Amino acid sequence: MIAKYSLRAITRTPWPRALSAMLAATLAVLIDSVVRSSDYRDLLRLLHTAGLMNFLVPLALAFLQVAALFYLIILLPRILRALVILVSVLVVIVQFSYWLTLSQFMTGTDLLLALTVSGENRADAITSFFQPLVLLYALPYILVLSSLMLAPAAGPFASTFRKTFALSLLPAFFLVSSNYALFLYVPERSFHLNPLTSFVRLTIHYGLENLGAYHGPRDGLPPFQHSKRPSDSIIYVIDESVRGSSLSLNGYPRPTTPFLQSLEKQGRLNNLGICVAAGSFSHISNAYLISGHNEFPDNAYRTDRNPTIFDYAKKMGYETIYIDVNQGYLPKLLKAAGDGPVRSLDRWMNEQWFEDRRIDLETRMDPAIARIVSSLLNERGGYFIVVNKKGLHFHYSYRYPDDRANTIWRPVMGASEPIDTSAAGREKLVNTYDNGIRFQVDEFFRVLVSETTNRNYVILYTSDHGQTLSEHGQVYTHMKPDRVIVDVPDFLVSGERYERKDLLAGIPQGIRVSHLNNFATLLDLMDVPASLRVRPYDKSIFSLSGDDSPRYYMSGSLHGTGDYVVKTVPALSHAAWTISKTFVNRTKPE
Ligand SMILES: [Zn+2]
Repeated sequence: MIAKYSLRAITRTPWPRALSAMLAATLAVLIDSVVRSSDYRDLLRLLHTAGLMNFLVPLALAFLQVAALFYLIILLPRILRALVILVSVLVVIVQFSYWLTLSQFMTGTDLLLALTVSGENRADAITSFFQPLVLLYALPYILVLSSLMLAPAAGPFASTFRKTFALSLLPAFFLVSSNYALFLYVPERSFHLNPLTSFVRLTIHYGLENLGAYHGPRDGLPPFQHSKRPSDSIIYVIDESVRGSSLSLNGYPRPTTPFLQSLEKQGRLNNLGICVAAGSFSHISNAYLISGHNEFPDNAYRTDRNPTIFDYAKKMGYETIYIDVNQGYLPKLLKAAGDGPVRSLDRWMNEQWFEDRRIDLETRMDPAIARIVSSLLNERGGYFIVVNKKGLHFHYSYRYPDDRANTIWRPVMGASEPIDTSAAGREKLVNTYDNGIRFQVDEFFRVLVSETTNRNYVILYTSDHGQTLSEHGQVYTHMKPDRVIVDVPDFLVSGERYERKDLLAGIPQGIRVSHLNNFATLLDLMDVPASLRVRPYDKSIFSLSGDDSPRYYMSGSLHGTGDYVVKTVPALSHAAWTISKTFVNRTKPE
């Protein structure tokens, strides 16, 4: 009855649609303050630091954005309105999935990742993010959105098109211009009053970020004539989601990497200990690893401007190959190359490349990649190969064969099972992860080392980032600036006939490495003269000393245009950080 009267009251006002939009917006914002009350408490804290005007203006802008968006939806004829509302409901569900997992709505960086990561990782992310609880949180918003159907329509669309268009201009202009103001002056994560307007905001933010991006060619290297193809091969393996302290090589109590330890005993593995990854997710780390950039964030677009590691390898006479089964960084290099080849890259092999040649990669399994690298090395020397491995992207149970031999630690998580933060759930999570390390890391190296007969090679190994393994109840695996997320392995493995063993013997004791040291390390391994090195790269492991620290890393927007944080791992190694404390019992295989 009340609804009927209030509806009648609304339709009798001179601006029935504007009033409906305002009412719905007020309701939506009230609901939001209840559903996400913790975020609002944080928002209030901002009041003290930002000052009253700096607080009220963005708050008012954000509220008016909700009203403007609802008004635009109401302007649509009913069928179109129903369609837009349906899409909006999906957006609300996605936004709440992010919020429940990462305690924040999506950011421009999340959108970038959603648009650039491989289909399989995207599907894995969706299944790891989605929880039925989302629907409960989304329900009040869905009801408010549905109420927009009740607002009076403008009449037959064709006859009122011009009028509708005219009416939509002002709110549309307001949405774009107010978001531009927020882009310039307000941190991306603040003042979100509604999941839908937040989505509009991040989309505009992403567009603006792209407008300012660097799209030109990379810097070149000075002229240099290398006389002949080198006889050694250098392999740079960048793993996916492998946490350094989960390797028994680094002191983890379970034997997750017995083969690597046997190599170390034979003096063929130089372990550099726990390394600090450049970033909390693949995109950042790969950008730094491939370009050698060493400042955070990258607001000068140096990761897009610097010569790549392939440029140096090519200059030194190596045949360059990029094996990318994880779509780590290759899509970005390809995009920058347009229709042409990627500069200095002789061959790139991705999943499609293998599929076209009917080479079975045993999807998601890395030992198959080891076999391919081995067969290349056995052909001849002089290769420089970068491998973006499949590694241990969540869900971990996909990353090793589902059989008795490879399920060493039990119980394990089922396929597509979400992260459960209870003690029992965490035990399964860690068991599954450890089985994955044993197969994707240790077995990978066993195959690579034992099947390579041409033994004049060196491998530099690291991972793009680590994993949380939920020790503080995190339901996210990475993407946030938690210190465990930048805990990655870093070591060198050399073949018995590697011709530059003297160089490896000179690695100083007690050094603490970060991803930033890897670039110059590779340059040293390639014997690149100082005159060729065009950027002030961080030191290589061969010239580091024990007191070279602190080590930096970042999370969030790579180019510093949205929300980002830059953090450090203190100079002296952090005891609680170097060795994983994730599991307490069941150290013995069953
Ligand atoms: Zn990654």
